[in-house]
Amino acid sequence: MRQYRIAAVPGDGIGTEVIQAGLEVLRALAARDGGFSLVIESFPWGTDYYLEHGRMMPEDGLKTLKPFDAIYFGSAGDPRVADHISLWGLRLAICQPFDQYANVRPSRLLPGINGPLRDVGSDDLDWVIVRENTEGEYAGAGGRVHRGHPEEVGMDVTVFTRSGVERIQRFALELARTRSAKHLTMVTKSNAQRHGMVMWDDIFEEIKGDYPDVETDKMLVDAMTTRMVLDPRSIDVVVATNLHADVLSDLAAALSGSMGIAPTGNLNPERRYPSMFEPIHGSAFDIMGKGIANPIGAFWSASMMLEHVGEPVAAAALMDAIERFAASGKGMPRDLGGEATTRDVTDAVIALIEGKNV
Ligand code: NAD
Ligand code: MN
Repeated sequence: MRQYRIAAVPGDGIGTEVIQAGLEVLRALAARDGGFSLVIESFPWGTDYYLEHGRMMPEDGLKTLKPFDAIYFGSAGDPRVADHISLWGLRLAICQPFDQYANVRPSRLLPGINGPLRDVGSDDLDWVIVRENTEGEYAGAGGRVHRGHPEEVGMDVTVFTRSGVERIQRFALELARTRSAKHLTMVTKSNAQRHGMVMWDDIFEEIKGDYPDVETDKMLVDAMTTRMVLDPRSIDVVVATNLHADVLSDLAAALSGSMGIAPTGNLNPERRYPSMFEPIHGSAFDIMGKGIANPIGAFWSASMMLEHVGEPVAAAALMDAIERFAASGKGMPRDLGGEATTRDVTDAVIALIEGKNV
């Protein structure tokens, strides 16, 4: 029997609620499939751990995670600790050392879900945003000096490297090649940011000819937001920097119905390190502990994780269950206009996986 080792890092807030739900769904899929098993180990890292130990995860946390086939992550962030400490101490502390440079964020308007855009149906919004995930605006370079004085300076220095830009652009071109539309939009802000962003443009011009089957265009990030709203059908795959794609993908999630649906994979494509899968939403302070978080983003992320470890049939079965659940229009969670709890949605999706009528 094929066996995969999954490290679950639920983290904080609703991260713990949706990962719990996602693990139940994964176990149901493995039981149904019969051809593979999952060895799941959960690590209670996050803000509670920080308040006890002064760090978000143990010093040897990366060594602990390294042998796993994949990491299933919830969210980092809690009202008791500043966001930059929790984010840098856990999520970014895993993404950067594990060289998970390709952050892949699919957005689809699932059948049955009404997005906020008028006259846009499920065939019209089917995007993948590829986010550079290890450098750029979130490289961590910068500093603060003269704190509290009028001459205080705060700097975040954006770092782009030729190798970092080229590998993410090639990853996006390869991904576009596998899709039916075979189209890639490269997003920058190279009118205003005239060094690193112009380097993005130059590198793209140099390499795109290696992918003659992929149609490409370029867009400034501000114009891209309006295109996403006004002409969603014209978009297929998008590649952008760490910050730009972070913002664009939250917009994409909202346009596809809710932040609660959207999944992401932080990939180390060379597989030298485990890749990490997570819903794109955060800890949702306003609803945490209430049992009403939408777990679909965590389920969809679990499907991406199964695909990545090499179980495409189970991955597709999970997507199919999610789509049938959405299409039924029944028992939707609150963010999709219903009353259902995390428990209700989880039970409904598991019943669909098990082939029961709901
Ligand atoms: P958020 O995603 O937590 O919440 C934004 C809004 O969307 C809230 O109104 C929330 O209720 C709603 N929402 C999000 N996910 C939902 C779900 N599954 N079901 C129903 N509604 C959902 O973003 P935020 O408020 O900007 O951040 C809160 C905390 O999470 C902060 O500490 C932030 O740093 C952290 N965060 C972490 C990650 C991560 O670890 N990957 C990502 C984003 C935010
Ligand atoms: Mn974000």
